[in-house]
Amino acid sequence: MIHQQKMLAHGEIRTWELDLEAMSGCAPWSQSRPDLLSREVEQLAEAFPTLLAAVGIPVSTSWVDAAEPLTCPECNDLIVFDRGTRCATCQRPVAPEEETVVGFVGRLPALISARPFAAALKRRTEEMRTRHDPRLELFERSVFEAGGRQYLAPRFGLWFGQSWPHDDPPVMVWPEYFEVLDIPPDHIYVADPYYRLCLYARWREQPARNVLQRRVAPRLLIDLMVADLVALGKLDLALEQLDASLYEVYNMVGDAEAGAPLRRVYNGIVGS
Ligand SMILES: [Zn+2]
Repeated sequence: MIHQQKMLAHGEIRTWELDLEAMSGCAPWSQSRPDLLSREVEQLAEAFPTLLAAVGIPVSTSWVDAAEPLTCPECNDLIVFDRGTRCATCQRPVAPEEETVVGFVGRLPALISARPFAAALKRRTEEMRTRHDPRLELFERSVFEAGGRQYLAPRFGLWFGQSWPHDDPPVMVWPEYFEVLDIPPDHIYVADPYYRLCLYARWREQPARNVLQRRVAPRLLIDLMVADLVALGKLDLALEQLDASLYEVYNMVGDAEAGAPLRRVYNGIVGS
């Protein structure tokens, strides 16, 4: 039995039992492999307990799989697997669309205290407040503090595509992701208004939990290193020292040996 939990807008915490049967009903690939879905869900819920299993709908792009959450027509919240498919906030049952995918949606936190990026973000949000920028709320919701430390927690969605596990799962970020980081979108596919992160040159079948742990979390850390360099106005200097383009820098993600020069240059400029 897997429990899911969400803090609603007014601070109330709602808990429900994940309805695996309803989830399977929205994931045609799982009909022939029911054990695979329950295993994926158990592993993800254990490693990332704040992520919510949700109904997704494909975002049409001509050449890459992408998806976005199905949302409640009344309160715009996620449609989750709770006694069928229903809104996480108002609990209204919402019938899934004809073509659906399933996946997990939530925020992945990364520590940013003492990073040059954090100081720059503070300056930028103060400027936004002064000029009453309507995007300030999105920025503020991407950051939280716990135990005196500051974290960046961007929204992610990981979706099991129709051909799971034969193709890598689309991992999507929301449009504010690169805006908050203040870095150019790189190693992405555009699925307007979302971005799908480009995480694999060659996909080998593996649990979705590994995708988040071994690719998505490290990717966020690389994005933060680039954001630190941008915050210091030193990205061009770093790329010059690396003799690489930003695109090539991202090819170092997830590769310990190839990533070593980036870490050396980064530490030389930012300080280790
Ligand atoms: Zn609702």
